[in-house]
Amino acid sequence: SIPLGFFGGIGAASKKGILVKGSNYLEALNAVKYVVFDKTGTLTRGVFEVDSIHTASGFSEEEVLEYAAYAEMHSNHPIADSIRNAFPGKILEERISEYQEISGHGISVKLDDRVVLAGNQKLMVKENIDYVQNKEIGTVIYIAVNQEFIGSIVISDQIKDDAKKAIQLLKEQGIKKTVMLTGDAKKVGDKIGALLQIDEVHAELLPQNKVEEIEKLDERKQVKEKILFVGDGINDTPVLARADVGMAMGGLGADAAIEAADIVIMTDEPSKIATALSIAKRTRRIVW
Ligand code: ADP
Ligand code: MG
Repeated sequence: SIPLGFFGGIGAASKKGILVKGSNYLEALNAVKYVVFDKTGTLTRGVFEVDSIHTASGFSEEEVLEYAAYAEMHSNHPIADSIRNAFPGKILEERISEYQEISGHGISVKLDDRVVLAGNQKLMVKENIDYVQNKEIGTVIYIAVNQEFIGSIVISDQIKDDAKKAIQLLKEQGIKKTVMLTGDAKKVGDKIGALLQIDEVHAELLPQNKVEEIEKLDERKQVKEKILFVGDGINDTPVLARADVGMAMGGLGADAAIEAADIVIMTDEPSKIATALSIAKRTRRIVW
């Protein structure tokens, strides 16, 4: 039978907006020494804004934005929202067909009879597009139409208000290492990692690379130490499942992530991770 104290712990957590799916996860939290984060939507708000638009010769900023908005029409990635919001015109949905989301890369779609690609450098390389690298610091969306590069859009996201406090609280609670995993550009990852004083940053990762990073960490750590992964997106599902404890942030979180997680933070605050750890510690004291 399950010790009563654990129910107390689950109850205390739920009062703080933390849903724990079983008492075993509270117990596991006590052994967590590594906290691994996804970036977008977890440590950052996941609300991007367009900073600048670069065009290839012969194309206007409006055209680049319009193609991008069409490509992003059906995507629920935070990147897509920012591009749709920045586009002032009307999108005629009937012009779009063959929508394809390429995980960790971007979008491919047909607009009338033209093939539009919108995504990162990996997508441009994969599709053999002769593109111009945009060296600005920010998340860059490259756009190509019928295999021709037409421009790029730089967008940026903001760090969540309590993300820095969250990292500090974890350190105070004896977490050995904090790690950030992101599919975004290295420059962006490094900048945010430095601002938040995160110990390790791994960028430009595909969803399966994120799982591999957890596996590498698993080999480095001591046997009894546990890894907590905190993520938000649909892409995070395999990582949530692979970590010893998977935690989803519910604020913006995708249903699939909430389903795959062991613990769900119902708010948008990363500092709740530390709250969960301290509830787990207190629960243990009551039980034993
Ligand atoms: P993360 O949550 O770490 O940003 P994702 O796997 O969700 O990782 O995305 C990785 C990268 O893939 C993004 O930074 C972006 O470059 C590209 N990408 C993903 N979805 C889209 C999209 N809808 N439009 C354009 N690029 C995208
Ligand atoms: Mg994500």
